[in-house]
Formats: sequence, structure tokens, C-alpha cells
Amino acid sequence: MLKNNPKDRSKIIVRGARVNNLKNVNVEVPRDKLVVITGLSGSGKSSLAFDAIYAEGNRRYLEGMSSYATQFLDVSAKPDVDKIENLTPTISIDQKSIARSPRSTVGTLTEIYDYLRVLYAKVGVPHCPHCKTPLEKITNSEVLDDMLDSPDKTNIAILAKLNGKDQSLK
Ligand SMILES: [Zn+2]
Repeated sequence: MLKNNPKDRSKIIVRGARVNNLKNVNVEVPRDKLVVITGLSGSGKSSLAFDAIYAEGNRRYLEGMSSYATQFLDVSAKPDVDKIENLTPTISIDQKSIARSPRSTVGTLTEIYDYLRVLYAKVGVPHCPHCKTPLEKITNSEVLDDMLDSPDKTNIAILAKLNGKDQSLK
């Protein structure tokens, strides 16, 4: 029997997996690494990856949501595994080939990229791409104070829409 250090979260520990044709499989998968599962056809690669590890990570994640949210979600049954440790929410990309373009990435195929855009828009702090200064909103009177504090003969550009409409060149 392997002893596990409870603080060691460097690997996903699967004990007694009996999903589909798996016969009490014990395995440790390094975390935060690209891991490839290989083997003969029918040896249970997909059962281990999709039906045990992915299914359990997905189930735990969905179970943690509010009961209001879970009524709209299909929370799957617990897979037949004694225990899986150090699991975080999981994402699975289907084996079936989907229409892919040369510009597809893991981010776009999984739609993670769309969620990340929303996340960064909400919690991110925008910075000027040139001088890296954080951008912040200032009030009209702060703009005016800045202008009045400027030395004499400072050039100031005032940009505005005309007539409330964009003036497009014809
Ligand atoms: Zn700047």
C-alpha cells in the first residue's frame, strides 16, 4: 500500500477504478503536465481518462454549485472508483473529430477562450499597451483641473463627435 503525503498535490491518485472493463486499477497521474495514456485497443484508456477521472472531476465541480444551478445541469452518477485524490474541475475534448480550422486552439475548441475573455474583462486591470500605466477613469472636473494646472501655452487637443453622430467621409 502506498503512503500519500496529504500536502503533496503534484499528482492525481486513482484507487480501485472499476469503470467499464477496468479491474480495480490504481494509478497516479502527474498534475500540471501533458500526460499521454497509451495501450492496446480495449485496454481501458478512455474508461480511465473520460469515464473515471473526467467524470468524477466534472461531478464534484457541478455538485459544488447551488441547488438552483444544478437543476438545470446533468450531474452524472459517481463513477465506480474507490477514491480519486487531488482532482480539480476537469474539461474533456471529445474524441470525435469536429470541424477544425488551422486556427483552432485548445482554447477555441473548448470555448475556454470565450470564458477567459469575460473573466479578464471583469477582474482584469487594463493597462496602456505602450507605457504599461494602469488606465483609470477620471471625472470631467479632474480633466479640467489637469488642464488648468498645465503650464502656459501647453497644446491641448479636444476631440468630439459632431452633431452626436460619427462623421464618416464620403
Ligand atoms: Zn501609455
